[in-house]
Amino acid sequence: MPIEKESLFGSALEQLNEARRHIAVSDETVEALKNPTAILEVAIPLRMDDGSLKIFRGYRVRHSDARGPGKGGIRYHPHVDLDHVKALSFWMTMKCAVVDIPFGGAKGGIEVDPKALSRLELERLSRGFIQAIADHIGPDTDIPAPDVYTNATVMGWMASEYSRVKRKKEPAVITGKPISLGGSLGREDATGRGGYYVIQKLSSLEGWDPRKMTVAVQGFGNAGFHVAELLYREGFKVVALSDSKGGIYNPDGLEPHSIKDHKDRTRQLKAIYCDGSVCEEREAQRISNEELLELSVDLLIPAALENQITEKNAPKIRAKYIIELANGPTSPAADRFFEKMKKVLIPDILANAGGVTVSYFEWVQNKAGYYWTEEEVHRRLRSKMESAFEAVHTLAVEKNIPYRKAAYVLGLKRLAEAYEATGTKEYFVRAPSPD
Ligand code: NAD
Repeated sequence: MPIEKESLFGSALEQLNEARRHIAVSDETVEALKNPTAILEVAIPLRMDDGSLKIFRGYRVRHSDARGPGKGGIRYHPHVDLDHVKALSFWMTMKCAVVDIPFGGAKGGIEVDPKALSRLELERLSRGFIQAIADHIGPDTDIPAPDVYTNATVMGWMASEYSRVKRKKEPAVITGKPISLGGSLGREDATGRGGYYVIQKLSSLEGWDPRKMTVAVQGFGNAGFHVAELLYREGFKVVALSDSKGGIYNPDGLEPHSIKDHKDRTRQLKAIYCDGSVCEEREAQRISNEELLELSVDLLIPAALENQITEKNAPKIRAKYIIELANGPTSPAADRFFEKMKKVLIPDILANAGGVTVSYFEWVQNKAGYYWTEEEVHRRLRSKMESAFEAVHTLAVEKNIPYRKAAYVLGLKRLAEAYEATGTKEYFVRAPSPD
């Protein structure tokens, strides 16, 4: 797995510096974005099932609250560290600005291999994390959500623990909850669906016939499965899928929903095809995650982890279109290479913004105490994703820059407006005095 050792937050700031060259924003706005608002690092003691005690490190970073309360997921992964969480929180700030929802950015995580814990240990760890960060989060300060290796069940434990600590029901403190605890219909597939709406816009711009388009998806989790399934239903040929153990490839196409059903039951990724209730395993080539990225396909969708495409493997990527459903899958050096090669890359802060958009809808519904139908959620999500895509596309054409830079320019512009409105040097020099 290609992992560069350099700082991920450093890469994120490099993207900020690149975008800055295309828009006039004050130094103060940029300085504020380089410095996360609040950083919390905690030790979480966990009583294991065998009676022993283990201590886990957890983090919560609120990157910016210029446009609203912090918003961002909680990740459970052995590679979680402060640098990762800072980078991910920065991308949340930019993403919320790009889709124009009234949130800032935040992110959290625990350095843990969740697969090595029992379900009860996982529940105690999740509750312990919330006890440790309860004073740092809240419906109007910082609102967590699921991310890698966390899901609705984990969010349910966390929401329940938060209401225990605060001694009142506060469903809007966390999104991605089970429906029975105030979750929103349509949150489960929102990230993949948002990506799918963006791909549909790109498809009509480029005049694609879906049946002639091949797709490879790295990461068959929440984001990866749903985008693969929606594209499959639209007629795209999904030829490769992978999880942390490796991938499967069949040039004749795979059936994401049958593969998911089988994976849920057995934890194994196999090329299962079902005809009604009769399922069989078909021939498929076993490939590594690196090989999946290098397949000759039309659309490559990284939907696993950051830093998968670096300067080392970028020259081997054959897909013309790259849709980033994962956060930060492409390093800045790989990005510059793709720009030179005229590849079309839809960046994470646009392509995967469907998740946070429906999280916002969930928060709105929790605050109002009034719940929408799934159709309503889909309609509003489509509208948000299409508007964001159109705004980014217009900037890309106007300034003759790639989509990533255009998305950053859009996000920066909206963030700068918020920082300016609360006062910068230019503002104080120019603004009339209140008397
Ligand atoms: P998930 O835990 O549901 O799935 C992660 C998938 O990646 C699993 O299939 C896992 O096996 C696979 N994986 C793990 N390590 C891998 C590796 N080294 N190589 C290849 N595959 C690997 O997580 P998710 O929520 O789907 O998140 C995936 C990506 O999407 C992350 O970058 C996340 O930040 C981003 N994202 C998720 C959401 C959301 O709402 N869930 C929203 C925006 C962005």
